[in-house]
Amino acid sequence: MQVFVRHIRDMLPLLLAQPDEVMLEVGSGGELIVARLRAVIALLLLLLPLINAASGGSVRETMIGLGGAVFVNVFAQVWLSLARSRRAHRWLPFATSAFDVTAATLVLVVLAFNHLPSALNSMVVWCGYLLAILLTALRGDVRVTLFAGGLALAEYALLVIVAFDSATSPEQLISADYGAVTVGTQVQRLVLLTITTLMTAMVTFRMQRVVEMSGTDGLTGLPNRVWLLHRAPRAMDAVQRDGSSLSLALIDIDNFKRVNDEAGHRAGDRALKHVVTVLREGAEPGESLVRIGGQEFVLLMRKPIGSAWERVDALRRQLLQRPFEPERGGEPFRLSLSAGLATYPQEGADLSRLLRRADQRLQEAKREGRNRVVARDT
Ligand code: GH3
Ligand code: MG
Repeated sequence: MQVFVRHIRDMLPLLLAQPDEVMLEVGSGGELIVARLRAVIALLLLLLPLINAASGGSVRETMIGLGGAVFVNVFAQVWLSLARSRRAHRWLPFATSAFDVTAATLVLVVLAFNHLPSALNSMVVWCGYLLAILLTALRGDVRVTLFAGGLALAEYALLVIVAFDSATSPEQLISADYGAVTVGTQVQRLVLLTITTLMTAMVTFRMQRVVEMSGTDGLTGLPNRVWLLHRAPRAMDAVQRDGSSLSLALIDIDNFKRVNDEAGHRAGDRALKHVVTVLREGAEPGESLVRIGGQEFVLLMRKPIGSAWERVDALRRQLLQRPFEPERGGEPFRLSLSAGLATYPQEGADLSRLLRRADQRLQEAKREGRNRVVARDT
């Protein structure tokens, strides 16, 4: 039991953490899929009151059904238009999943006013809760799943308590079509909601880990090219919003092949980790260091090109001052780096143009004799 409690305590911060950059991108795509699905289901809901009217149902029932369907359609369209502006609203998955759960509760409340057993023993509408919870997996955020599951449990438990409390005679809880409403069946439903929430949270959590791994370099633990492809457009949007500058440095280790040739490939790997440690320690908060190739790195900085050059040149000096020792007492390697810089938006409107520009300057730094940072065309 103690082990279990400790396990949960260790897991909790991971479960409640914000998903990483690539997962947020995947999740915003999931939100759009759910929004489209909701819009289609909402349109189909409009048919129900029409069928009711055509098959001789009461006008009151038809009008209530129509009102409900129009309400759901209006919201479905609002959620769809918000989901289209990808990742602009961080609260959106919470709001839409709360809407889905509460829509199921509202239908059950309407049914309960009419006939208590139809609300508490009906399977079809209650499954709306399960669907709302399962669909949170597409948002790729465990926090959304736990929130939607918790809300469904709270709303349904409240409905059951109020229903039992308001039943004036036991006959009100028995129906020829829906059977008897018992405490046992209602507790079973709450347990099923809990299990669905936990299972969905576990699936989402595993998915988060897999996606996180796809954006992380296995050797150094740094974000990789996949991560950069997702992160760069967001960083550029932010720069455009506040009118600041974003500088990109393409960094390449000089004569790295020599380490492999003289000390072996495994020592080469350790040398790469050493370089990453030095660069990481030298990087300032808000700067992103990415391993985009074998011994090629990108540093993203929210700075104009002049101060970005000073930052990268300082990193170059720090690396020179901390040689890599392949083994205890072995001959140390003095590693140096060359870098080319480019700035957004002045020198490239997207990541690939910026990288191309930075690469031209990196080649220039290599031609000039290595161990230098180039920020301007010569
Ligand atoms: P330059 O100064 O022109 O950059 O010379 P260089 O020797 O560093 O050449 P280059 O940039 O082309 O680096 C390629 C070398 O990097 C060859 C390859 O063995 C090594 N390398 C790339 N990735 C890894 C890795 O993950 N581990 C190890 N040990 N070596 C790697
Ligand atoms: Mg190199």
